Amino acid sequence: MFEFKVIAESQTSRARAGTLATTHGVVETPVFMPVGTRGSVKSLCPEELLAAGAQIILGNTYHLYLRPGCEVIGRFAGLHRFMHWDGPILTDSGGFQVFSLAKLATISDEGVTFQSHLDGSSHLLTPSKVIDIQNCLGADIIMCLDDCIQYPATREDSLAALEITTKWALGCKQAWQKTQNGRNALFGIVQGGMFKELRKRSAEGLMEIDFPGYAVGGLSVGEPAELMLEMADCTLPSLPQTKPRYIMGVGTPENLIELVALGADMFDCVLPTRNARNGQMFTQYGTVNISNAQYKNDTKPPVPGCECYTCRHYSRAYLRHLYMARELLAYRLNTIHNIHYFISFMKQMREAIVANEFESFRKEFYRQLEN
Ligand SMILES: [Zn+2]
Repeated sequence: MFEFKVIAESQTSRARAGTLATTHGVVETPVFMPVGTRGSVKSLCPEELLAAGAQIILGNTYHLYLRPGCEVIGRFAGLHRFMHWDGPILTDSGGFQVFSLAKLATISDEGVTFQSHLDGSSHLLTPSKVIDIQNCLGADIIMCLDDCIQYPATREDSLAALEITTKWALGCKQAWQKTQNGRNALFGIVQGGMFKELRKRSAEGLMEIDFPGYAVGGLSVGEPAELMLEMADCTLPSLPQTKPRYIMGVGTPENLIELVALGADMFDCVLPTRNARNGQMFTQYGTVNISNAQYKNDTKPPVPGCECYTCRHYSRAYLRHLYMARELLAYRLNTIHNIHYFISFMKQMREAIVANEFESFRKEFYRQLEN
């Protein structure tokens, strides 16, 4: 089961609010999806994710395929029961990690061969294999295999990557149609490097194959934020209005609000979880480093007014102490706050779109940030 509905559109930008019905529940968009790379959103249990407002989480095909593998997860009929998360799950195809983590990735029309970053073992991922793996993981939304190139890349390399991505997308669609039982939705991934006409060409190629949703990949790979937004700006309007649009691996709160303004619906990023473990907490006034000496005797909550579990019960002085002492609880409490911050930020954006107040919300966001 999969159904996307746009319920409100901003009159002053391309921002929209919608609902995404999946087998494991309804997701309200725009949505931020916490990243659970290896079947865990680092340091949090599912109850904490729910309390922080998470509606859907991400699992990573490359990591889960290598460890613990489909044989183990298959015994639990998929990731939901294995990790005790009943809500919707999206899994990426593994393409990005093959090119960024694995060794000796070689590409052919058939797929990509690589060596595991864990033990050097050799693997071949083909379009039909990534569909099989994601079916085994039991995700509600699954992704096509894509060739994610580095930044900067030449036009020639960007074109070659988009062509193979389109070819693999067709293979993925065919494999998905054969195996699917109506339980998941397959998204195509737009590539094309930092070239506008290639981005459009990639989107057109995928739309011809026709997917239940579309993602924009290959962004936030080291390019300046302006260039990332330029690529999103030219790609998003060329994707169907009636389908969900997912920007992969982006980004900061500033990136998120701008991408929502450009018409994106779904996001994932390791920023709130990774930075939490480095002591960085997100607030509406910018980021705060909890290790800062100024918090040593500070009895105030980390972010006054924040309704997350961490801010309701603990002080800056305590969080700083935990972090300086490298107590495990530091990572968990910081992560709870950051995930709550990202999710409630998206929720506020959604409410502003529905109330047709997105523009004033955006202005207020930048006003607070500059203070
Ligand atoms: Zn908080």
